[in-house]
Amino acid sequence: MKKGMWRAVLYGVLLCLALGAAVWRLGGVFEGKQIIVPEVTFGAAKETKIPQGSYQRYLLLYQESDPVADTKLTLNSLEHALLYAKWPYDKLSFSEWAQAERDLDPYRSGAVIVIGERQAGLARPDVIARYVREGGGTLVMAMRSPDSPLNALSGVMGTPVFYERPIPGLHWRENLYPGMSEQNISQERFSSSALAVKLEPGVQVWAESLEGQVPLLWTKQAEKGRTLYWNTTGLQEKMMRGIFVESVLKAQGGGAKGAVGAQVWYIDDYPAPAYDRVSEGNTTGYTDTGFRMRAFNPDMQALAQRYGLRYSSGVIFDYNDRTAPPFELTMRDRNKKLYDLEVGLIRAQGELGLHGYNHLPLKLSYTEEEKAEYGYPAWTSPDAIREALRTARGLWPKEVHGALPTMYIPPSNVLSREGKLLLLEAFPEIRTISSIYVSNKAYAGYEQEFLPDEEVPRVMGTPRLTSGFVMEEDQLPDLYGGVGSLGIVSHFNHPDDVFHEERNRGQGWPTLRDGFEKLVQAVKERFPWLEPLTATELADRLHHYHAADVRFERSRPNRLEAYATPLAGPMFVEVRVDQPERWQVKEGGMIVHRDAKHGLLWVRMTEPHLVVEAAT
Ligand SMILES: [Zn+2]
Repeated sequence: MKKGMWRAVLYGVLLCLALGAAVWRLGGVFEGKQIIVPEVTFGAAKETKIPQGSYQRYLLLYQESDPVADTKLTLNSLEHALLYAKWPYDKLSFSEWAQAERDLDPYRSGAVIVIGERQAGLARPDVIARYVREGGGTLVMAMRSPDSPLNALSGVMGTPVFYERPIPGLHWRENLYPGMSEQNISQERFSSSALAVKLEPGVQVWAESLEGQVPLLWTKQAEKGRTLYWNTTGLQEKMMRGIFVESVLKAQGGGAKGAVGAQVWYIDDYPAPAYDRVSEGNTTGYTDTGFRMRAFNPDMQALAQRYGLRYSSGVIFDYNDRTAPPFELTMRDRNKKLYDLEVGLIRAQGELGLHGYNHLPLKLSYTEEEKAEYGYPAWTSPDAIREALRTARGLWPKEVHGALPTMYIPPSNVLSREGKLLLLEAFPEIRTISSIYVSNKAYAGYEQEFLPDEEVPRVMGTPRLTSGFVMEEDQLPDLYGGVGSLGIVSHFNHPDDVFHEERNRGQGWPTLRDGFEKLVQAVKERFPWLEPLTATELADRLHHYHAADVRFERSRPNRLEAYATPLAGPMFVEVRVDQPERWQVKEGGMIVHRDAKHGLLWVRMTEPHLVVEAAT
């Protein structure tokens, strides 16, 4: 027998063994443990009338003519933070505030949030001070200002100057939020300019610069009310939205915010053609298909079973670089059994989304920088994209079986506007696009919000917050920032991460797998209430979440009420209280987790009126 044939026989035997093992494990998923599919949509939306009341409400007071871009960026990001927290707010520029005084009483259960670098011209600081001191309101300074007339009220002594050196990252001194305030944020992640301040005695510092010289976040009691000062320009970063909202909740002495309550685990390029060979970078000791059969698939399925995960995957039909027709399938020598097996594994518990006919982003041109970054050829014409998508649509029933995809993952998280419209034309079933939450826009990254697409609102954005098997400390603020902001974990991996030096960080599969388990475990320990959803289920839940009119009422001691109408599916409410163990739901939902260390509890709200009370 020729050497090649021996190899073929050997692989044949290995393949059978591997398939047997994989099927046996798959059997375990089906039989051993029931897959729990959380409820997303009620039979009918539940409605209520929200009575008049003094609800948590916020005022964003911003300097519209600031010369620095930070003011505008911070305002934009914090508006998203409030929207995601389901906090109603009003917006007022410094000049509107100067023209006519407003009653600040509606913000007594919430906060007045001031944004601007140059605040010297802020009119009526005495009215704001009275709202805090006599009204018991909360004032939040969301950007440092050397000349603010509100600095003294916030505990700043004298007139501060800018801290001249870069801030070497952020260190927490207070337990603000699970996970988030357990990590430092490095200088690479937290770029900020701060003031060199001298603070009054009695001020409580919640965060400082990594080497401790500069207080970055503090709070001060001012008679009946409180102030919170963010000595930074860093709140313009998306990852800071969660911690911002949490800091405001804590400063205002309790209250509540909304949460979507979902964990979505993506596997990109899965299933995708794989071959019985050892490709470059594969040092696993298996062939490419052997690795999937013997290691990746059984290990990922075992984790899914142990932690109740459900995977949302992005299907690829071919890795060719064709940008013009014909788009025939050139994957004939791929391992078809593996492809079928992986289709089955995902279908049994999660969602199969589209990643592409091939792995080329739907884009008709690239800049020089983008070319250097990705090396992808551009499509030759809109018709070529159309035809490739039509091919993918034709392949779906043959290769993936079942219903057409409702979710799309852009290859390399790159997508153009034309590409998006062509995609939705070819696949009108698509209800969500899962790209990325924070990208390098210089490289055409398709950055998204957790919001309906602006042009096609039926398509919801379900971006990914984090990626990789082994999370570095610097990525954790993205993970926990997402939970603090929206109550969402959204994470992606690739089966071939282990073959790529850049993505495996010099680690073999066992280390990567254990790193992923550590991540899943950390999420489960801190946030066991996050429900395992598929990407499309998350999209549906987000539609309901954004459609609901929500109010939180906290003006009576030992009682918190929430209204959400229409309530088309379950929603989560995070409540900040002193002793979470004393609290019980009176009506409208169920407490799903308590965290005494951080003074938090989470309620799964299933009726449009929720009442939570503390035993007295
Ligand atoms: Zn991919």
